[in-house]
Amino acid sequence: MKTRNTLKGIFWIALYVVFSLAPLSLMLFGERPMGREFWREFSVALGFVGIAMTTLQFVLTARIAAIKSPYGSDVVYYFHHHISLVTFALWLAHPLILFIQFPGTRQLLNLITAPWRARAGVTSVIVLIALIVISVWRRQLKIEYVRWRIWHGILATLALILVMVHIYLVGRYVGTPFKQALWLGYGGICVLLVAYVRVINPYLISRRPYEVVEVRPERGAVWSLALRPVGHQGMRFQPGQFAWLTAWNSAFSDREHPFSFSSSAENPEQVEFAIKELGDFTSTIKDLKPGQHVYLDGPYGAFSVDRQAKAQEIVLIAGGIGISPIMSTLRTLAERGDGRPLLLIYGNRTWEEVSFREELELLQEHLDLRVVHVLEKPPKGWEGEVGFVTAEMLDRYLPADRRRVEAVFVCGPPPMMNAVEAALLKLDVPLRAIHMERFDLA
Ligand SMILES: Cc1cc2nc3c(=O)[nH]c(=O)nc-3n(C[C@H](O)[C@H](O)[C@H](O)COP(=O)(O)OP(=O)(O)OC[C@H]3O[C@@H](n4cnc5c(N)ncnc54)[C@H](O)[C@@H]3O)c2cc1C
Repeated sequence: MKTRNTLKGIFWIALYVVFSLAPLSLMLFGERPMGREFWREFSVALGFVGIAMTTLQFVLTARIAAIKSPYGSDVVYYFHHHISLVTFALWLAHPLILFIQFPGTRQLLNLITAPWRARAGVTSVIVLIALIVISVWRRQLKIEYVRWRIWHGILATLALILVMVHIYLVGRYVGTPFKQALWLGYGGICVLLVAYVRVINPYLISRRPYEVVEVRPERGAVWSLALRPVGHQGMRFQPGQFAWLTAWNSAFSDREHPFSFSSSAENPEQVEFAIKELGDFTSTIKDLKPGQHVYLDGPYGAFSVDRQAKAQEIVLIAGGIGISPIMSTLRTLAERGDGRPLLLIYGNRTWEEVSFREELELLQEHLDLRVVHVLEKPPKGWEGEVGFVTAEMLDRYLPADRRRVEAVFVCGPPPMMNAVEAALLKLDVPLRAIHMERFDLA
């Protein structure tokens, strides 16, 4: 399984590089414009690679399970975030090199007098700048996540259309059927992906509704939402994976939110999510009524013990609602009668807020499970761990021989995850053994 995923991962990276660089073949082969200066051609080359990489951004975010499975959704989203800055730099390099090397081209910035090819090119860069600004500073600009997602899609599509118009109107490197086919191919992939994401996938999801069975309160302002498939078999998932939930709206709505399954993967006929009240959407979970229809898109994610079948011992580290995928893991392993030693280190603010603490106690009777609670504000007389999960604390519980630590699953608030990752590495836990699920794709 691991080797197959590694090979798949290498394959997708190789394909990414090939598709990113493919437009350079337009410049290397076939008829070329004569007598053009190096800097002009170089700026075009950078722009072409930037455009190809922009079209690949559509592929990265289209939720194609086969592409995400070797890495995990969060890794793909992080790559998407970071590579978008490289892409932006490449787009920007094209006009900047021209403006510096050929000062006459600066008049193309005047959108009133500039020819249409320049208007399209300059506007595409302005649109891209707007896209980067609302994405990097979304929180500071106080843009609601769902509204941001809609604008993100509109601006990305607009930038790409404008830049394709720019290439077409400039007219170089589109002179032969091969060159035209290549650009049409890139544009066509984006159109197909938008159609898939906006129409085909929502249509398929709408054909497989779920109904609410119950909404149970848990400790720590968490609600367990139980769903049953209506007219279909339900979804097979691995413990630790997640799905996008749409409630109150049609499957075509943009208002969908990711949640990890918290129920056993052995029971696809009734799935559960543990959802913490944090904002606009999560505060409405408690208002869902039995029988009400909702939609699920999934499963996604690589945060699963099923991908580490050979690990002899498993360490689970959760903070707050990060317990949700861990509950799915423990419930699944209990149902399967898995006998491997399990260590759960579970951080919370107070004892009263520890979601699922009673069930965790019961699970210790069915699993070889040791639970270590870590409380920020412990009650009087508390004899357990206090404060945050630190390297010193982990050192007390992890096997002394770190090579025995083959699988550590970490899920919790971002500051905790960063601290725990650093602590694990400090303790010589091999990087390949550390698996993280970040509840923040935005
Ligand atoms: C892979 C994954 C698994 C998750 N599993 C769980 C879980 O099991 N239980 C749980 O309680 N929470 C989980 N979350 C977090 C949950 O998705 C957000 O808390 C929820 O979407 C917040 O929505 P809101 O409108 O209530 O809050 P808001 O205040 O609107 O949003 C709070 C923050 O949540 C993020 N967010 C909001 N909407 C979305 C969205 N549609 N898609 C992605 N991020 C969004 C943004 O960073 C936003 O700033 C998970 C997140 C991810 C990425």
